[in-house]
Amino acid sequence: MRQVHICEVGPRDGLQNAKHLMSTEAKKAWISALAAAGLREIEVGSFVPPKLIPAMADTGEIVRFSRTLQNVKVVALAPNLKGFQRAVEAGAHKVTFPVSASRKHSESNVRMTPEQMVEEVRRCAELGGAEIEGAVSTAFGCTMQGAVPEDDVVRIAVSLAQFCDAVALADTVGYANPAQVKRIFSRVKREIGDKLEGAHFHNTRGLGLANALAAYEVGVRNFDSSMGGLGGCPFAPGASGNVITEDLVFMFESMGASTGIDLEKLFKAREILVNAIPDEPVYGHTALAGLPKGFRAAA
Ligand SMILES: [Zn+2]
Repeated sequence: MRQVHICEVGPRDGLQNAKHLMSTEAKKAWISALAAAGLREIEVGSFVPPKLIPAMADTGEIVRFSRTLQNVKVVALAPNLKGFQRAVEAGAHKVTFPVSASRKHSESNVRMTPEQMVEEVRRCAELGGAEIEGAVSTAFGCTMQGAVPEDDVVRIAVSLAQFCDAVALADTVGYANPAQVKRIFSRVKREIGDKLEGAHFHNTRGLGLANALAAYEVGVRNFDSSMGGLGGCPFAPGASGNVITEDLVFMFESMGASTGIDLEKLFKAREILVNAIPDEPVYGHTALAGLPKGFRAAA
């Protein structure tokens, strides 16, 4: 039985921020290997204008391909109604909308205030066609605005919970610390209960795992992560991307919390990633050190 549910976001969050382009064929091979390792949810791309982000230009094809894999929930990101319509057309099971709690980030990223963005997501939810997750981004701080008031995070999460299937909190730029994670997740949980599902952490300052453990300790069981900590943040030079899937799986499995993911197969998927874009930096301790002698996955 899976006690912790991990969504691999490398093909979206990782590749969207990577310096090197991965071919469509390599993406398919990588996503297939991730599914074979036991990942049951994969964010495979985003429906943003291809001119803005060429790495995501093949997302429609990648979604259609991923739908042919067994037992995989295919997730795509959309920044607006148009992106949502493309995602539904391609057959995404679930669409994630980033709704920034930072006013400055929201205005520069999607040219909407957070309130306008909430209304955009509401329109998509009314249309239907896919499961909808509202992800409160920059929930722990913002490179443009600095501190983000916790009240803003709570207010946006509460509005999204009215019509989204699930709400997530995202540390988009890697500003969170474990005490803050416990505080904010607990506060939002008191307001929206089980609608609060996912935690999305970046490893920018090396606190990805610590933040994931803090969230786990206050009851969070759904985590985003990316293989090899792929990606980074254009606003944080030298930063790695998301919390690293291999290390996150190792942490939970060694604690006895089952993820349903096979680490040896996960390392095979990592080889595919490294061979496809060999000049792209990848991170992670577990893949380099290997599994400890006598290691047993959680039952
Ligand atoms: Zn992210």
